[in-house]
Amino acid sequence: MQTKSLYIAGSTGSIGTQALAVCKKHGIRVAGLSCGKNYLMLAEQAKAFQVKSVHIGDESAVEALKELLPDCEVVTGEEALLEQIQKSDADTLLDAIVGSAGLKPAIAGILSKKKLALANKETIVCAGQLIMDLAAENGVTVFPVDSEHSAIFQCLLGNHDREVKRILLTASGGPFFGRESLDGICAEAALKHPNWDMGKKITIDSATLMNKGLEVIEAYHLFGHKPIKVLVHRESIIHSMVEYVDNAIMAQLGTPDMTIPIQLSLTYPNRMESDAGEVDFVKLQTLSFFEPDVEKFRCLQLAYDALSVGGTMPCVLNGANEVAVDAFLNGKIGFTDIPKFIEKTMSAHRVISDYTLEDVFSVDLWAKKYARDLLDTAK
Ligand code: NAD
Ligand code: MG
Repeated sequence: MQTKSLYIAGSTGSIGTQALAVCKKHGIRVAGLSCGKNYLMLAEQAKAFQVKSVHIGDESAVEALKELLPDCEVVTGEEALLEQIQKSDADTLLDAIVGSAGLKPAIAGILSKKKLALANKETIVCAGQLIMDLAAENGVTVFPVDSEHSAIFQCLLGNHDREVKRILLTASGGPFFGRESLDGICAEAALKHPNWDMGKKITIDSATLMNKGLEVIEAYHLFGHKPIKVLVHRESIIHSMVEYVDNAIMAQLGTPDMTIPIQLSLTYPNRMESDAGEVDFVKLQTLSFFEPDVEKFRCLQLAYDALSVGGTMPCVLNGANEVAVDAFLNGKIGFTDIPKFIEKTMSAHRVISDYTLEDVFSVDLWAKKYARDLLDTAK
């Protein structure tokens, strides 16, 4: 179903702003917007798209926002966000919040039967099968926005699911691919991604390869528990592939530009013109591939481990990672400390195999508190 009206949670971020550009280009109505703190940008967006409902995470900004938007419903607080999503007349929710803060909004969207355009991979990492089951029970489509998952979705079209041999999930390798040692890396260097311009958290996740680990877990749940192989592909032109039992491979290619998968999540089953550039194969000359180094990039191995343990372990991986990345960005820990904090938190967790959404909410809080306490004692 093509999106006619959209609620964007996380509208001021990298995905959110690119989604608004797509809405502008194709005349998609914007019914509601939400962000964490940037109330000035939120007000500009709301005015430009004549939005009638907005939410701001930062309570201290709510009065200023109300003054800027006198004809708009302005709310704050998590409960108010969930309520605003539920009662919105949008037919689609784009969840572009960063971190596990995106989980409850995704659930609110599903419960109010909105198509879910999902950029927030942490939702699937934390709640996995429960989200897929909840979507199925409510007759809701979960449409991946992540470029690799959008690619896999496209590579599966027109083929039999039972004939899939494996998914080949591509990874750019990040800024430190091939580097001798990861010691002494500062936030500034880790924030320079070679191919993609993204929010800070996912950029660090890309540098540690945790992003690929989270994406393996995401792909596992989105596409029915298929075998997955990660392949480093430096140029980020092939966005992922699906190999079939006859060893034929379907791949989806394009320039590294998130507006392509964002747009497809809104316009599918239709394709529409895009401002993204074309691939110039002659200029490219080569596409290169490598095995990921899971010994050097420990975060990817930890994600494989969390997926094989299953239950609430991926949620712990994610929560500890969020705390560790934040600490790294604030200069409190080194780059190579990130996997150490995650591993310690995972070791301390007693896994719940048969888990509920309530378990996920409490395990997320537990993992973040445990990792924060570890940071405090390490000082
Ligand atoms: P970002 O940091 O640029 O933007 C995050 C948005 O979420 C902002 O609008 C922010 O205000 C809002 N937000 C943050 N915390 C919030 C909270 N507690 N409550 C409400 N709103 C909150 O992040 P991004 O790069 O746009 O990534 C968003 C999500 O999309 C992430 O899950 C990321 O992994 C995924 N993703 C991003 C890209 C990309 O190219 N940026 C690609 C694939 C997947
Ligand atoms: Mg991705």
